[in-house]
Amino acid sequence: MLKVFNDLTMEREEFVPLEPGKVAMYVCGPTVYDYFHIGNARTFVVFDAIRRYLEYRGFKVTFVQNITDVEDKIIRRAAERGTSPEEVARQYTDAYLEDSAALGIKPADVQPKATEHIAEIIDFIQRLVDRGYAYVVDSDVYFDTSRFTEYGKLSHQSLEDLEAGARVEVDERKRHPADFALWKAKKPGEPGWDSPWGEGRPGWHIECSAMSTKYLGETIDIHAGGADLIFPHHENEIAQSEAASGKPFARYWLHGNLLNVGGQRMGKSLGNFVTVREARRQYDPEVIRFFLLSAHYRSPLNYTPESLESAKGALERLYNAAVTLEHLARPERLAREQGRADEFHARLPKYKDQFTAAMDDDFNTADAISALFDLVRDAHASLGPDAPAGVAAEALALLRELGGVLGLLGRAGGLDDLAEEVQSLIDQRQAARARRDWKESDWIRDELAAKGIILEDTPSGVRWKRKV
Ligand code: AMP
Ligand code: ZN
Repeated sequence: MLKVFNDLTMEREEFVPLEPGKVAMYVCGPTVYDYFHIGNARTFVVFDAIRRYLEYRGFKVTFVQNITDVEDKIIRRAAERGTSPEEVARQYTDAYLEDSAALGIKPADVQPKATEHIAEIIDFIQRLVDRGYAYVVDSDVYFDTSRFTEYGKLSHQSLEDLEAGARVEVDERKRHPADFALWKAKKPGEPGWDSPWGEGRPGWHIECSAMSTKYLGETIDIHAGGADLIFPHHENEIAQSEAASGKPFARYWLHGNLLNVGGQRMGKSLGNFVTVREARRQYDPEVIRFFLLSAHYRSPLNYTPESLESAKGALERLYNAAVTLEHLARPERLAREQGRADEFHARLPKYKDQFTAAMDDDFNTADAISALFDLVRDAHASLGPDAPAGVAAEALALLRELGGVLGLLGRAGGLDDLAEEVQSLIDQRQAARARRDWKESDWIRDELAAKGIILEDTPSGVRWKRKV
């Protein structure tokens, strides 16, 4: 039985989707004003693994993730750079898609952008105004939290608590300090769209309500994100959506614990972050993924440079075992007379059960990874040089099957040190270009192309990607 911890009820519950066999899942996506960091990546990787496990369990999952491509931080970044918000959003949307693909994150079934859903957002806000849940002040529209009696049910606090905790500079335009903007009037130099309330742009929260409803319906199965989104983002999404539809918005609310650095959350504003882009220069992205899945998603996970190093060592052990099994299972061995490994063979289903029991226990990826190590340890102890090829092939297939549920161990052969090698070649090429040695620089580019690496010269330096 699959059990999940639901932050709405604060209980472990059996997971039963609304429609048998189908899961409607929405995970809040990035605000595209910069490269995303490995903290953000923890959330994205974790919910990718959860999606994969649901699929492995036979559910047909429809996975929607938004891209927030109009927001204060994007506008500010564009002003700093003397470029347009659209340009900033485009650049970092591309970077997000590229880095998340490198991390083995499956593309969403729908990846809607806020700026492409302005009409739906306006309709949604209009419905809230019509139903008396939103009020207009000049050309701004606010959600009236006092009208939604269940406000606070996800973050488990009352409006009175929130009022008491409100900061001193109370916004006079709001009826209650917890009220939030659904529509923001355009200020000079900002992007804006026509609306019944004047030119402006959507607030952040409303896009998720509008897009989740459009693509998944009024009530969905799973809504997820990092724990920092519980309040106010998800609380506000619930208020808007349930006020508009009169129905429950999401049945299971799942939040991933944040990645910390020295006890503090990794965050852009705190300056303690490592981007996925940077980490990829030093480590294979699968190592980063492995590290992010090494703890249960609701448990704390602390980042230190050594943590990636030890993740690399651990993942290498799994890959080395896969290589050994590949070797034992090679076709020419299949025909030969071999020893027996009946007991090991009989134990294989046990590892599969151990893995699924861990994942059924609120997606415990840490224990699921332990099951992979137990399998590999047993294989190592049980399969000598004369081990039967068929059993080795079965063990390998199981290792790949279970690893694949976590988005790991998908490559034939071992884990390589491509990232380090590529970076060193790029550095050599930059040095060659600096001394105007075009021949050497072209030669290195060709060398990289032969390894399946494509280089891109951008204003912010050379970027590389694997040809896939
Ligand atoms: P943002 O681009 O800031 O909207 O964040 C995108 C996602 O990353 C959200 O689901 C956040 O909850 C999540 N997130 C932000 N910081 C961290 C962190 N340190 N650890 C894990 N997830 C995070
Ligand atoms: Zn959201």
